[in-house]
Amino acid sequence: MTNLDNLLNVLKQGKNKILYKIDNQTITYKEAYKEVLTLSNSLSKQGNSPVILYGHKSIDEFISILSCVVAKRTYIPVDKYTPKKRIEEIIKKTNSTLLIKNENIKIKSIESLTIKELNEKYKYKKKKKINTNNIAYTIFTSGSTGDSKGVPISYDNLNHFISWILKLKEFNNCNNLNVLSEASFSFDLSVMDIYFSIYKKNTIIALKNNNISNLKNIYKIIKNDNINFLIMTPTFIKILLTDNNFNDNNYPNIKYMFFCGELLEVETVRKIKERFNKVKVINAYGPTEATCFVSLIEINSKMLKEEYIPVGKLNTSAVKIELDNNEIILKGKSVFNGYLDLKSDNYYKEKKTNCYKTGDIGIIENNYLYCKGRIDNQIKYQGYRIELEDIENNLLKLKNIKEAVAVAKYNNNIVKLIKAYVVLNKEMKEHEIKKELSKLIPNYMIPKKIIIIDKIPVNNNGKYDRKKLSSL
Ligand code: AMP
Repeated sequence: MTNLDNLLNVLKQGKNKILYKIDNQTITYKEAYKEVLTLSNSLSKQGNSPVILYGHKSIDEFISILSCVVAKRTYIPVDKYTPKKRIEEIIKKTNSTLLIKNENIKIKSIESLTIKELNEKYKYKKKKKINTNNIAYTIFTSGSTGDSKGVPISYDNLNHFISWILKLKEFNNCNNLNVLSEASFSFDLSVMDIYFSIYKKNTIIALKNNNISNLKNIYKIIKNDNINFLIMTPTFIKILLTDNNFNDNNYPNIKYMFFCGELLEVETVRKIKERFNKVKVINAYGPTEATCFVSLIEINSKMLKEEYIPVGKLNTSAVKIELDNNEIILKGKSVFNGYLDLKSDNYYKEKKTNCYKTGDIGIIENNYLYCKGRIDNQIKYQGYRIELEDIENNLLKLKNIKEAVAVAKYNNNIVKLIKAYVVLNKEMKEHEIKKELSKLIPNYMIPKKIIIIDKIPVNNNGKYDRKKLSSL
């Protein structure tokens, strides 16, 4: 029996322990078991298609995810901050016939129900034949064409990931902990939050996006909920470290800090180690396409003497890691089988390659893997993955924009801001461009500055001179 097949049992075994807590609302393992049993039954009666889970971090969104897994229906977490146009595109691309409304939204093209409505409507209906497409979830990420790109992760991928993390020695003593979950469900770091916590019988303490702007509240949660294990992006710890009182005297229960999703700077780890002497700092690496992360390493003091810290060890990685012209290539069971196939009738066409060219520049030294930037225009900004061409192509969708280029401004390998240069057909103010753009792409992708110019400079190859524009 696979880990996912055993999910309901694991929930049942957790009994009265709290499984998920958010905004002072809690659900125990046993209560979650009952809710997942009911909702997964309703889902099996409603149909076979992928299910859009619309909302943000909430108990309902969490229960919806687990219920989809049990009902063997692909879940597609779509955050409430996603523009409606993008949501409509996602519905179309995935052929979904159901949207679970964990936040209010009006969308005509799909049956949209709350959990309660879904359970009531399908209570006395017959179960439909399971016609699973073998995909556990699809996460949509920024695509260079200007459309969001679906990354389908199969049950095999996810089961392999779970079995791998359960065997890792780094997590040997990680049972019965209080785990802080920072990521939203539409970011694949949440895959670690959910499955690591459940299978290790931990309690998840989740933060909402708007909590991030209320730092005092986050410190309070970390203290009062006795957080032992933080799952987060380096961006998030840098925010926490802004207060000098964030140290092991005041937060003695913190035992682990787990990072993934972007470059973890040596300087950041040095600061952590100064404040939290005994905390284990783990750096993990991997793209959504290879199921959350594929390698990890506990950072020791020797590693802090170098310019970069490693992102993993080759002999304990989830997949085979190779370099091709310095690019990191991943091969193995947790690697997906290709993007949502837009041209084919079969939306989740299996290519059976299990091989992914990451676009990350890698170095292998003494069996350690290092990640040193990108070969393309994909960036990480405040933890979010963004293709700069995604911003450009959406700018070009606006009526009065003739040419557009988006560039990132760096400070020590970290993106500090995104700006865009545009050439106009007809006068438009910066704030008008931003307003129109916000209907097409999420807020975190909107350039901080949009500069209107007469001509975009090109380099010797006739391409936009991104380097020059980025340094301006
Ligand atoms: P995502 O699909 O959002 O998880 O983003 C994956 C990308 O984030 C990778 O291809 C890397 O470019 C970057 N990334 C993830 N983890 C790390 C890490 N530990 N160090 C440096 N870059 C990372």
